Amino acid sequence: MSRAAPDLSPRPDVLAAIGNTPLIRLRRASEETGCTILGKAEFLNPGLSVKDRAALSIVQDAEARGLIRPGGTIVEGTAGNTGIGLALVASVRGYRTVIVIPETQSEEKKQTLRLAGARLVEVPAVPFANPNNYVHVARRLAERLAATEAAGAFFADQFDNVANRQAHVEGTGPEIYEATGGAVDGFVCAAGTGGTLAGVAEALRTRKAGVRIALSDPEGSALYAHYTTGTLKAEGSSITEGIGQGRITANLAGFTPDHAYRIPDTEALEIVFRLMREEGLSLGGSSGINVAGAIRLARELGPGHTIATILCDGAARYASKLFNPAFLAERGLPQPDWLGASPDPLP
Ligand code: PMP
Repeated sequence: MSRAAPDLSPRPDVLAAIGNTPLIRLRRASEETGCTILGKAEFLNPGLSVKDRAALSIVQDAEARGLIRPGGTIVEGTAGNTGIGLALVASVRGYRTVIVIPETQSEEKKQTLRLAGARLVEVPAVPFANPNNYVHVARRLAERLAATEAAGAFFADQFDNVANRQAHVEGTGPEIYEATGGAVDGFVCAAGTGGTLAGVAEALRTRKAGVRIALSDPEGSALYAHYTTGTLKAEGSSITEGIGQGRITANLAGFTPDHAYRIPDTEALEIVFRLMREEGLSLGGSSGINVAGAIRLARELGPGHTIATILCDGAARYASKLFNPAFLAERGLPQPDWLGASPDPLP
């Protein structure tokens, strides 16, 4: 197989290593559907998730608008990955980071945030309608710091700041189109802010008429009901993190998918465990929701199509949850077979 010459030139800083991630063919999913199912390896970004792209774009946009000063503080409400991306961008660009995070998020992500240099403010997990929701706490904290800190503060606002979506309009989407030589027939992913889904959709739709865009929604999210019945309505719950949404964010405004799927955790977890055992891909729960959606879209379109999705982040961020037999058993969820009781010790 011929391959383009790799770009081995030195990067000016770690931010220049964000993006240009490879597409990886998912062998089993492809064989079972007769399609080519490709996962974009966003877990290879420097902050180990798809959210590095949004973090960089948001900070660059704020700098261009003069909204952030050297030594200033970036404040964000985040389930974790955006905060990790912001912390690394802030370190390189000379800012500090304060992250407001719901206390229910995984310990691994909280620890990674601390290791990335972010100051953490943990708050109880309450709905968006509650003024103490992490997003509102972050906004108020940014306003306070803007008034009291000499170098000011900036609220990154990933849900409603469309510099987030723009990272995918200019980066992720065109990369998928180019890497498939324009052969991509469908794209599917879940939405947290919606930046990835709406941004990639915009980039692909302007390049290829008839491309099919699908939402892969976890339980507990209101988007599936919104796009299929017109009513924002959430049912059930999910242990996946970083995805699912109860409202139409600014990043989702004006976007409509061609297909929508509601994926139960049981289906997503079986896929996460299989990708680990059969493909050597060690991934988090949202990647399972995404690949489940890609398989459903492949079945709907029929054999011969090329479908891309996002492999958002890695399993290490969820070791205490998705890969913890006790945590899974308590919730009646499937278990990775190799994590159960050990077989008899070898003689
Ligand atoms: N997967 C993970 C693990 C995430 O952290 C996020 C971001 N919250 C997403 C998927 C969804 O990405 P987006 O915000 O672009 O919708």
